Amino acid sequence: MTRSGRFLPSTVEGTIPAPLYLSFAPTEEQFRAECRSWLEANVPRPGLASGDTREGFAAHLEWERTLFDARYAVVSWPAEYGGREASLWEWLIFEEEYARAGAPRRVTQNGIFLLAPTIFEFGTREQQDRILAKMASGEEAWCQGWSEPNAGSDLAGIQSRATKVCGGWVLDGQKTWTTRGAFCTHLFGLFRSDPDSERHKGLTYFLVPLASDGVTVRGFGRLDGDEGFAEVFFENAFVADDNVLGGVNQGWSVAMATTGSERGLTLRSPGRFLATTTRLIDLYRSMHGDTRSKALRQRLVDAWMRAEAYQLFTLDTVTQLVDGGAVGAESSINKIWWSELDVELHEIALDLLGAEAQLEGAWSKGYEFSLSGPIYAGTNEIQRNIAAERLLGLPRA
Ligand SMILES: Cc1cc2nc3c(=O)[nH]c(=O)nc-3n(C[C@H](O)[C@H](O)[C@H](O)COP(=O)(O)OP(=O)(O)OC[C@H]3O[C@@H](n4cnc5c(N)ncnc54)[C@H](O)[C@@H]3O)c2cc1C
Repeated sequence: MTRSGRFLPSTVEGTIPAPLYLSFAPTEEQFRAECRSWLEANVPRPGLASGDTREGFAAHLEWERTLFDARYAVVSWPAEYGGREASLWEWLIFEEEYARAGAPRRVTQNGIFLLAPTIFEFGTREQQDRILAKMASGEEAWCQGWSEPNAGSDLAGIQSRATKVCGGWVLDGQKTWTTRGAFCTHLFGLFRSDPDSERHKGLTYFLVPLASDGVTVRGFGRLDGDEGFAEVFFENAFVADDNVLGGVNQGWSVAMATTGSERGLTLRSPGRFLATTTRLIDLYRSMHGDTRSKALRQRLVDAWMRAEAYQLFTLDTVTQLVDGGAVGAESSINKIWWSELDVELHEIALDLLGAEAQLEGAWSKGYEFSLSGPIYAGTNEIQRNIAAERLLGLPRA
């Protein structure tokens, strides 16, 4: 379907704006129906153990392989890497159906949703051919190696370094908070490649096999009991030149493309929050009268409106992207919006459940994880700084 009259308001000259027309094309609805019926037939029941445990991670990878074999792992990618060449609209539809079906969370997400868009943009053809199909099938799983013990919010303060040697680079230093690092096979990370540089300059973006000599991965537990984090140590670890992504000393601008994906469109699409809102409304309906206070009802409606607003905002973002635009600093507002909405949705559920929340695993586990949303992908304080300076033009704090 053409874009006109679809998600963009058209105006009748000199009169009131024409109504906003929100509908998907028949072919897109057909695609939705195919996804829905495949997911209904294939989503594992009961659900899998947490993908942040070793056993759960392995079970999730098996599921990812099933998705890949049915060409649902990376619907928007080229067919040669396992995709269906689906449009961004169809990708959104797939994401919505995936969350609606309660399908397992993607343990490959940091590769597929963060690194892959960066590889499509900056990678050589050789890198794309070498990496993308194996990433899509789950044969290789990628983790994000940016944070260090003394560089989290202040990413430009990283101290891990890369030294040029014949045919490649030697890496030294330490990364931390590496999600599922203990189970992954590869890491994408930033290293200081120009020893005389400071801050954002002189950094290079490396693609590192974790089995390389000189790399030690040490997993550690989270407060919720899962073991999905790792510290990664580099001691004289060699990586070949063809593992530089996007040019030597160009790492900062390449990394900013990854953060655009992380905070903007791909990491948390609206389907996830629409599905949580639907579950929450069902929970509210199932509760006894006494528990369903007016105040909770107001909060529920407010959260539902915020989830719907997020979807409309995303449709607008996709419209801009389809028109050749790019996601800029607005991705920071996006990140604040979905992360705070997720906390609120889970808080409402816990308030509804009261003491029962202790017995009900899914909402309390979800609540614990939602609390990390305002921290990962760059804390919300940092996102507010970005919005203040780049969108509102306020002076630096
Ligand atoms: C669940 C989870 C998964 C993660 N996964 C990964 C991963 O896979 N890979 C990876 O590299 N990292 C990962 N991280 C790390 C994450 O990116 C960092 O925790 C985050 O960037 C904050 O860094 P920090 O923890 O060092 O806190 P700090 O930077 O020390 O910040 C501490 C507090 O100070 C505030 N603050 C700092 N600077 C400013 C400022 N200039 N203005 C206002 N307030 C400020 C922060 O907002 C925060 O509240 C993950 C974190 C979590 C919680």
